[in-house]
Amino acid sequence: MKIISVIGARPQFIKAAVICREFAHVSNLQSLIIHTGQHFDENMSKVFFEEMGIPKPDFNLGVSGLGHGAMTGRMLEGIEDVLLKEMPDIVLVYGDTNSTLAGAIAAKKLHIKVAHVEAGLRSFNMDMPEEINRILTDRISDFLFCPNDIAVENLKKEGFVNFNCTIVNCGDVMKDASLYYKSKAKKPICSLPKEYVLCTLHRAENTDNKIRLMSIISALEEISLTYKVVLPLHPRTKKKLESINFDFSNTNIFFIDPVGYLEMVYLQQNCKIILTDSGGLQKEAYFFGKYCITLRDETEWLDLVQSGYNILSGADKVRIIDCFKKSLSLSDHPNFSKCLYGNGKAGNTITKFLVNNIN
Ligand code: UDP
Repeated sequence: MKIISVIGARPQFIKAAVICREFAHVSNLQSLIIHTGQHFDENMSKVFFEEMGIPKPDFNLGVSGLGHGAMTGRMLEGIEDVLLKEMPDIVLVYGDTNSTLAGAIAAKKLHIKVAHVEAGLRSFNMDMPEEINRILTDRISDFLFCPNDIAVENLKKEGFVNFNCTIVNCGDVMKDASLYYKSKAKKPICSLPKEYVLCTLHRAENTDNKIRLMSIISALEEISLTYKVVLPLHPRTKKKLESINFDFSNTNIFFIDPVGYLEMVYLQQNCKIILTDSGGLQKEAYFFGKYCITLRDETEWLDLVQSGYNILSGADKVRIIDCFKKSLSLSDHPNFSKCLYGNGKAGNTITKFLVNNIN
């Protein structure tokens, strides 16, 4: 059996690390990796392969830094070339990036089975490029691996039970990753404040809108007066802040370069609370027992909000500070008793399913 994983962005490296480790235990399985090149910096790509033991990509398409159309189109072309040569039994795509969509379309048009890891998530915000990628990828996937009940329900509501596909509620591979790597956490080499809150910020809806971006930054500046805000700065956000001449020398936010996953686990384990617009971090906050403020107007991870582990703040300064105070008081008596996102064996469930269903 031959399986090709298509990956290209940071969260996909983390998900693929889980799957590739499981694949390594299966005899007669040839696992190949296409890296589209979407994230290419050393600290956005290489470090994950090295630290997480992800096999070196077999194909690197080097597609990055383009608009959505050109990026997805060139990926599609490059992936199709590889698939025509390799003709795998299945193409595995992860999450919701342009690499996900390009991989799914390339495979489906060649009548190669498509499996989507992290299927069924919805923000119901069609302005998000990720939402478009998710919906289209799900629709042409043969195997939909859902991380939770809500994702399964979303697919059912959209009529997927009438489509020729299989929905599997397998739990979240990100939970597998957090359990596996939690004892391997690495302190970042930069000096850190003793007590801090952790923030990440990179969603287009926040970075591409100057008012939202500056409102969030202004809230972080104010929070920094109480707790230092450590913010590993995504290249996109850095570019945006530079383009509006943000004065990095005159801020009390503790900006650092993006870190590898093991350093990120350390930062999450040791912070007070987390503020983020990242999908992955919302769940990791829960995995590491930290309250989370989501700097968005909606989230795909509703179960976290319903359980009281996550508060949606949007981008309004006053509301962010309010949510911060609320989360801070909650963190004095943390209670994360609910078990969400499966049993930490999603990667194993996915692998077994594929082995049993593809000959
Ligand atoms: N992450 C990391 N280093 C960083 C920032 C994030 O390793 O400097 C990890 C984080 O722990 C999570 C994943 O990257 O596992 C989330 O990726 P991102 O926020 O880029 O994408 P999203 O989850 O929003 O799709």
